Amino acid sequence: MQPNADAEIEGDAGCGILTIDLGAIRANYAALRARAGASRCAAVVKADAYGLGAAQVAPALRRAGCDVFFVAHLDEGIALRAALGGGATVAVLHGPPPKAEPAFTAHDLTPVLNSPEQIAAWRAHAAFRRTRLAAFLHIDTGMSRLGLSATQVAAAAADPDAMRGIDVTLVMSHLACADQPEHPANTEQLVRFQALRRLLPPAPASLSASSGIFLGAAFHLDLVRPGAAVYGIAPHRARGNPTRAVVRLQGRVAQLRDIPAGAAIGYGATLRAARPMRLATVAVGYGDGLPRSLGNRGAAWLDHHRLPIVGRVSMDSLTLDATGAPVGLGALVDLIGPRNRLDDVAADAGTIGYEILTALGARYRRRYVDERPHPGTLPAGEGADSPDVREAVG
Ligand SMILES: *Cc1c(COP(=O)(O)O)cnc(C)c1O
Repeated sequence: MQPNADAEIEGDAGCGILTIDLGAIRANYAALRARAGASRCAAVVKADAYGLGAAQVAPALRRAGCDVFFVAHLDEGIALRAALGGGATVAVLHGPPPKAEPAFTAHDLTPVLNSPEQIAAWRAHAAFRRTRLAAFLHIDTGMSRLGLSATQVAAAAADPDAMRGIDVTLVMSHLACADQPEHPANTEQLVRFQALRRLLPPAPASLSASSGIFLGAAFHLDLVRPGAAVYGIAPHRARGNPTRAVVRLQGRVAQLRDIPAGAAIGYGATLRAARPMRLATVAVGYGDGLPRSLGNRGAAWLDHHRLPIVGRVSMDSLTLDATGAPVGLGALVDLIGPRNRLDDVAADAGTIGYEILTALGARYRRRYVDERPHPGTLPAGEGADSPDVREAVG
């Protein structure tokens, strides 16, 4: 092998390129914060910032002025604290697992307390450390998932020792139906939340994630906690998408072939060519997080050419109908791009943008861009030499 052979295939060696626009992330955050008015705007970066890389995304949000971050698990909190350094609040939605309280104080993490058991353990930890400890308190108002029930809130409120040594710096709840603005559960949960809050000592309150922010000022309270909309997912799909696109997923054409009428395409021979076709096999499959349910649904794009997905999606590849389109070997086609945004691809796959993003996997070459150029506006391939572009294999 030539000494520089690897350098020559740089950028071509993976299955495709996942471009993540940190500038669009910051712009979406700024727009959400403006939308939330006087309310503070946190950012949810659980699941590795919805699959986009918390170590890159969270510091970018920090530079945009975000100083409260939410993750789901303790491990995520530890990693995020290391990425952010000191200063910002890092809250862990699931709270401390049994006996993990010392890890929270060691890494300066704020637990979200979801149950009487977690409250008791945090209270004991504060007593052991002979200090007061901050915590967020989560009340369930209609999801039956995490948080104190109404009965448990009332019991905690009636017991003067329940919160001894704990500074509740946020009381929060979570909306079940915020993506359906007309759903009566939204107002019901708001009313229930306000009533339960009043039983407890005064503390700032938070109810809304991305979609809730768009339900109006009554839902903003003191702090909002968007995740999805920061990453370009529409808060209310039926009302259009006010966010900027954050991800572009380009798959590489690994082979071109001309097939005669009657030839079978892919596993299960689910499709037979009705006419002679030119097929482009792209080196991206469900092993890269592209759902198998996209088989014979949806399309990739090359500039303004729509290339329908034909046959089943395999683990490492999928097949496009490239008949009549100027697709060359090695071309990068948009599996998620300006003409097929994340939510559109999710709808084609019968799922939601959240699931597509968090499934995107580790096989792509990841490219983080900032400011301009950004993936929503560029034709394929441009921008790679910009000094703003940092590339990471991930
Ligand atoms: C995931 C999550 C969020 C963020 O929700 P988005 O819909 O992504 O904005 C906010 N709060 C809680 C409790 C969550 O679990």
